[in-house]
Amino acid sequence: MPPLRPQPRFPENDTQPFWDATKGHQLTYQTCDSCKEIIFYPRRHCPNCGSQENTWNVSQGLGAVYTFSVIMQSRHPAFKDLGAYAVAYVDLDEGFRIMTNIVGIQDPTKDIQCGMRVKVRWEDQGEGEISLPMFEPA
Ligand SMILES: [Zn+2]
Repeated sequence: MPPLRPQPRFPENDTQPFWDATKGHQLTYQTCDSCKEIIFYPRRHCPNCGSQENTWNVSQGLGAVYTFSVIMQSRHPAFKDLGAYAVAYVDLDEGFRIMTNIVGIQDPTKDIQCGMRVKVRWEDQGEGEISLPMFEPA
């Protein structure tokens, strides 16, 4: 088994609910109880109004590629055997943007387009500690 990708360092007070939800393959995001702003990445306060009252929601995991870049070579032990891989921003239908990888394709230099519809695909890490949300063509 290849080395794990870099992992969050727990305890992680602000993002723990997000990571806990990944174990059940749920992609979560927050909405502000005060101004209704969509909050992502996970954090304690609303970046729009500063409120610390927010609600966790579960995304359907469907969205579109906003932009992407193809990494041809990485020397990090967790990535060095991957070959070319794509790092992307995906816009989820609920209105938030996540940095992720596009997987489930033959050639990342040819098989990804901006605007392409994608759906979440989970990559479990280690012994069920967390799972990483990646995206494949929908
Ligand atoms: Zn707010």
